Amino acid sequence: MKVIQHTAEELRTALVSNSKDLAKIYSKYTKEERCLLEEGFHSGQPGSLFQPITVHSDSDWISAHPEEPQDFESFYRDSYRRTPDASHNTIYIQTIGSFGEVGALTDQHVEWLRDYCQAFFYGLSVKLLPAVTVSETGCSFRVNSNSNNLQILTGDLLRFLGNKKPKDAFCIVGITMIDLYPEDSWNFVFGQASLSMGMGVFSFARYDDNFYTRGYAGRLKKRIQPRQGDYSVFEGYYTPPITSTLLLRSCKTMTHEIGHMFGIRHCQWLNCVMQGSNHLEESDRRPLDFCPICLRKIHVSVGFKIAERYKALLHWMEEDRCQTSGPETASHPATCFPKPTEAFHTSQQWLCRCLDRLETGNSRSHQTQEQSAQRHAGCTGVEGRSIVLSHIHQRSWRDKRRRESSCTMCSVALQAADKVTLTM
Ligand SMILES: [Zn+2]
Ligand SMILES: [Zn+2]
Repeated sequence: MKVIQHTAEELRTALVSNSKDLAKIYSKYTKEERCLLEEGFHSGQPGSLFQPITVHSDSDWISAHPEEPQDFESFYRDSYRRTPDASHNTIYIQTIGSFGEVGALTDQHVEWLRDYCQAFFYGLSVKLLPAVTVSETGCSFRVNSNSNNLQILTGDLLRFLGNKKPKDAFCIVGITMIDLYPEDSWNFVFGQASLSMGMGVFSFARYDDNFYTRGYAGRLKKRIQPRQGDYSVFEGYYTPPITSTLLLRSCKTMTHEIGHMFGIRHCQWLNCVMQGSNHLEESDRRPLDFCPICLRKIHVSVGFKIAERYKALLHWMEEDRCQTSGPETASHPATCFPKPTEAFHTSQQWLCRCLDRLETGNSRSHQTQEQSAQRHAGCTGVEGRSIVLSHIHQRSWRDKRRRESSCTMCSVALQAADKVTLTM
């Protein structure tokens, strides 16, 4: 395991910049906010809120995909980056296909995702578009010849999203529980985005704990060759159960991918939700939130009070876990689904500690996690679970049009057992 430890000076330059105009903007943060942001300079020290990046193997993103690091200044001066404005300030989420076997729970899961994104990109509006079936998108699909599960073609979905994008959209994000492929020669893809068009589509199918097991219920029982245009094969098709881990992974993926829409590139500074990820184990290792440098990038794009954003995220994790879905009618009794936030406990505690820093302005606070937790109700809990799927071997998608489309888990993966050769 290798630790990427930048010096405090390097991190200061990456965060504040040596340019006078950017340093002046930086000085407008409150003392407490600067105190929190500058915690990153002491990453890895006892009590620090931010940790250095650790590289566990050559298959980790940073080793496999050397990229130019993006500091705050290069982000700020990137003329291609997109920023929400008064008439383009809504993030739209379009669900494609079923999101669960129980209709109301499906709706609830998507609402949890929406609410999480709204807290994460605090100040922007996040709206759900009415769900569509796979057939409504008119997309091509296939049965994967190795894993024998259904897959839909990303390019067709992006075209569909492009036509659906509302006028006030900052971006539109399609999400689906069905596996994706970008072209015939590829085994699969987690997602694909067009950053210049502000749209992307992402699948959570492989976040199912059982996806890589023999018993995965999404494998079709018989080898069938579905006819293009006959979408009946999707009726009643398996979707993963909404577990706490699945909710955590889907929140993390959504916010990482939407982060790219703002022009934020993969983080190489500190442990951060914007770190690139080459495989599920690496993705599980990433934290849920931004490092100080990426936080400044999103802050300058959206504009919010840092403490208010953290409070909104904490509220999402703590709010009544039993929510009622839909209005109650005689034929449709309201159903109560507990929000499975067990896997968010580590993040919850971290948010409490950040809020403490913002309230006390004490960068080397001696408060323990327990003391911090007592100050913010609901902050006790267990460590988030990290699932290691060591048998997954993935290779990422190097997009030739780097500025157009790039991404985390917008990467192609191969199971070790697969015999497919990728064309890069
Ligand atoms: Zn970062
Ligand atoms: Zn990415």
